[in-house]
Amino acid sequence: MNDELAPYAARPAASPGRQFAEPAPASRSEFQRDRDRIIHCAAFRRLEYKTQVFVNHEGDLFRTRLTHSIEVAQIARSVARNLQLNEDLIEAISLAHDLGHTPFGHAGQDALNACMADYGGFEHNLQSLRVVDVLEERYGAFDGLNLMFETREGILKHCSTANARTLGAIGQRFLDKKQPTLEAQLANLADEIAYNNHDIDDGLRSGLITETQLDGIDLYARHRREVEHVYPGISGRRAISETIRQMINALVVDLIDTSRERIREARLESVDDVRNAPPLIAFSPAMQAQATLLKQFLRENLYRHYLVNRMTSKARRIVTDLFTAFMAEPGLLSPDYESREGDATSQVRKVADYIAGMTDRYAIREHRRIFRMDEL
Ligand code: MG
Repeated sequence: MNDELAPYAARPAASPGRQFAEPAPASRSEFQRDRDRIIHCAAFRRLEYKTQVFVNHEGDLFRTRLTHSIEVAQIARSVARNLQLNEDLIEAISLAHDLGHTPFGHAGQDALNACMADYGGFEHNLQSLRVVDVLEERYGAFDGLNLMFETREGILKHCSTANARTLGAIGQRFLDKKQPTLEAQLANLADEIAYNNHDIDDGLRSGLITETQLDGIDLYARHRREVEHVYPGISGRRAISETIRQMINALVVDLIDTSRERIREARLESVDDVRNAPPLIAFSPAMQAQATLLKQFLRENLYRHYLVNRMTSKARRIVTDLFTAFMAEPGLLSPDYESREGDATSQVRKVADYIAGMTDRYAIREHRRIFRMDEL
């Protein structure tokens, strides 16, 4: 933990706190307690078996949602320390930001969203909040993890106006068009730095994209040339790792410098000032343009590669089949999942919670159990 927080950093003492009042922790800060609760929850462990881009069984070295979340936390913490933001809060937000993700990455999210079209849709940020507010069953006194307001706010990265209206205080900023804490803003960009870079790494490792293709992408090519200059003749994995390491560093340094300058210009004195200012955590326009090109490259060449499309298509069918089956025949759901006493949650919400909570391999297995006669 950094010793000195800036006046515009989030502080537990100035927080609206938790939904259910609890005694202050004895040996750690309130945001450390949040991080610890997140690490110990079941949804966090499931991240290990959820897809980032490559489905879990495709290879042991690819990122999963768990390793992705840890990388986001690492990047976010180093930026936070430089800007004197609250590292404990940023770590909690980073580790929790993908808790509500469905199995099979964006394919799973899109499929469940399509299934839920008549019921208000499915949105993974909102589901992450639902995990920490409602679904985790770990404490005697409350449902969920009873996290601090700022942690929950950071988890709810996006939200439609319609959904924001149903959420009370945590949704209010979307209606008022105000910003969340700088820590929440930072978690967003740390997420981007992490996935752009690790997807290049995983993409190259899988052979679905090549270094030759990346010649035209300045952010990569420039650092690749620099690596060759410092280590003539370097090749293979080592050259790729050095290049990606330098890219991450360039993005992080640019993010720190640009954000520091914007914070200075905004003359912030408190978190309240942060909320009323425009977004302040940002890349320079030049770096933003390069990052956007890299993102486009990944979208066109990796995320829509025909082999990724095949997996995406299977994932979509699995999620859609499960949703359709559970909606048509509620009796197929396990009773200990389905009914809680006095639970007014609608059938569709239960099905969505069940499917969203599945790991990739659990969803594949469950699909077999429901649709295959020779599977129990
Ligand atoms: Mg993420």
